[in-house]
Amino acid sequence: MHPFHTMSAEETAKNLNTDIKSGLKNSDVQKRLREYGKNMLIEKKQKNIFRLFFEQLNDFMVIVLLIAAGISFFISLKEGDGSFSDSVIILAIVFFNSIVGVIQEKKAQKSLDALKKLSSPLAMVIRNGKKRKVNAQELVKGDLVSLSSGDIVPADCRIVSAQGLLVDESSLTGEATVIEKSSAVLSEPLLPLGDRNNMLYSSSSITRGKCTALVTATGMDTEVGHIALMLMEEKDEKTPLQKKLAQTGKALGISALLICTLIFIVGLMKRLPPLEMFITSVSLAVAAIPEGLVAIVTITLSIGVTRLSKHNAIVRHLPSVETLGSASVICSDKTGTITKNQMSVVYSYTENEDILYDYAYLCTENDTKNPTELAIVNKAKERNIKIADKNFIFVSPFDSDKKYMSITLKDKGGFLTVTKGSLDAVLKKCTGFQGKNSHSPINDSLKSKIRSAETTAAAKGLRIIAVAYRYDTIRPLEIPDDKFIFCGLIGFSDPPREEVLEAVKTCKKAGITPVMITGDHAMTAKSIAKQCGIITEENPLIITGRELDNMDDNELLKKVKKCSVFARVTPAHKVRIVKAWQRCGEIVAMTGDGVNDAPSLKAADIGCSMGKMGTEVAKDASDMILTDDNFATIVLAVSLGRGIFSNIKKSVQFLLSSNIGEILTVFAGIIFGFSSPLNATQLLWVNLVTDSMPAIALGVDKSKDDLMNEPPNRGGIFSGGLWGAIIFEGLLIGAIT
Ligand code: ADP
Ligand code: MG
Repeated sequence: MHPFHTMSAEETAKNLNTDIKSGLKNSDVQKRLREYGKNMLIEKKQKNIFRLFFEQLNDFMVIVLLIAAGISFFISLKEGDGSFSDSVIILAIVFFNSIVGVIQEKKAQKSLDALKKLSSPLAMVIRNGKKRKVNAQELVKGDLVSLSSGDIVPADCRIVSAQGLLVDESSLTGEATVIEKSSAVLSEPLLPLGDRNNMLYSSSSITRGKCTALVTATGMDTEVGHIALMLMEEKDEKTPLQKKLAQTGKALGISALLICTLIFIVGLMKRLPPLEMFITSVSLAVAAIPEGLVAIVTITLSIGVTRLSKHNAIVRHLPSVETLGSASVICSDKTGTITKNQMSVVYSYTENEDILYDYAYLCTENDTKNPTELAIVNKAKERNIKIADKNFIFVSPFDSDKKYMSITLKDKGGFLTVTKGSLDAVLKKCTGFQGKNSHSPINDSLKSKIRSAETTAAAKGLRIIAVAYRYDTIRPLEIPDDKFIFCGLIGFSDPPREEVLEAVKTCKKAGITPVMITGDHAMTAKSIAKQCGIITEENPLIITGRELDNMDDNELLKKVKKCSVFARVTPAHKVRIVKAWQRCGEIVAMTGDGVNDAPSLKAADIGCSMGKMGTEVAKDASDMILTDDNFATIVLAVSLGRGIFSNIKKSVQFLLSSNIGEILTVFAGIIFGFSSPLNATQLLWVNLVTDSMPAIALGVDKSKDDLMNEPPNRGGIFSGGLWGAIIFEGLLIGAIT
């Protein structure tokens, strides 16, 4: 068979038995899913129940105990003294303990799997001629997918049609360049993968433009699948807290072992029966070694993560739950996160409203989802402008870096280009000014009049865009960028979400600084920030993108703590802002939704992406997805994070202090000349009923409300005198017993 890049799109469709316009039929999809399986990389095989069970037994001390119990069983059987019931009970308890362990681990695994499903990527597919979003795992060979800027390519595909398509294949090749791609047929069958410019490879991302494409390979058959096959041997990543507790557990385990050996020796010297003494010491070791420490953390974290998902926060990496509670700065987008993203046109500044609104409407993408553009379309409907798909010659889509968008289309025998965006970006291109009936050259006094109109409107909290156009009689070779005629300004209202006011108050009480970051005008940002209480007397500063550009990192470091609003910034600025806060020793949560936000989401301690308006690229770079795009959800997640952390602290305190109590009891008993106060069976029984169950109960404890009245924890798990409390309680338990 010829490789797909040498076939035309039509031949590819024929080869894959699909339709280039309407995609697969739903019935085909089911058949193919059964035949080829889901579109996912095979993950490490899950451990089955037996394996988990034997892993529980596979603890050195447990094995020693089992052997000792076995020996004791045979001796008492041979001597016929009937005391073998003890060994049987030991066996039963060990068996039961393992079962409890298995159940816990299964449960933790299940809730993590469920979460993975929730955060798995989506893809826009065309089936039966209808566009819809599906879970990327459900794509099959022959599916027709529609991709646009910010999407992650969900499977290997042959491009059918493309507009201005730029693709980032660095996840595949490791090279950080973007490649232009199109649907053109290539002739060389053995072309290296990187040069097959009419193919898209799974896991690369679309940085600009859009396309439709036919899926040619899914799951493990894709090029990343081949790589994944080589990298299959991945390990379970432990979270920092788990690692720390594992270390602590080991140190404590070794001391427990030493003490048990000592107890055994003292027992021998006191002429207690050696086998019984041995079994007691080993049982004490089994009971006292805090092997449950790491398991408890895993269970508490995974239960916490499930709880968070019910509150619209999907955590993608377990360690983020630990960090979440210690967040001390939340940098949030304004539009859509702090505000409702329900925009409506409420203001205009123009000499000719007809031209302003007509052209603004022309400069929106066909079936746009962008709230700013939806408001323009609604205004157009109100004005009875006919809404239909526009036949663009060029589209340069909106981009938070450039802060404008332009389109060109055929109009009355000529070519009309319209641009709309921030006033600064648009005014730079303008040489003319649209009056009531005709246009004239623009001059400085006109410009300053327009600027002051913008400032006045922005100060009321309105989001402002400027619109300009230009007319060419001959078809331009590329989208024009100068000699535009200024039409006017449009102002949108986008009120803050009601719950944000309360969330900001909670932040302040909890020692967390909320920071607004926006591409909007400084005055718009200031007005909204005031309404939500983000600007205060301690941090009254507003820094704009332009000021940031003229500031070096040291100067920013000095100012950042006094600043609560960053306006007219680009995504690149966000990385600098995160790093500046981090250099002040803060733990930073940062929101982002666009393709360009990926670096700042990665740089932040907790990157939060938007479930509704966010791109797949941003979701992939984030630690947590907010399914309701809401600032208040971040604050809620932080408070739940604190609850989880405090619960882990409680379980650790309980586990360790009761273990110390146990050791002390037996140790003191033997030293003071009694035989062991607790025999092996009793020790194991105490371990079974008091160790894991109550610790888990503490782990899922409902958190206290006042957790958000304290400043964020910065000292890790054993800070705040936890060791002191553990040792005191251990001594107390031992002494009282
Ligand atoms: P934010 O998400 O923080 O509001 P954006 O980067 O989306 O920032 O917007 C920055 C500026 O770009 C806005 O103030 C507005 O002037 C302009 N703008 C926003 N959306 C569009 C759009 N769809 N078309 C043209 N201009 C836009
Ligand atoms: Mg935006």
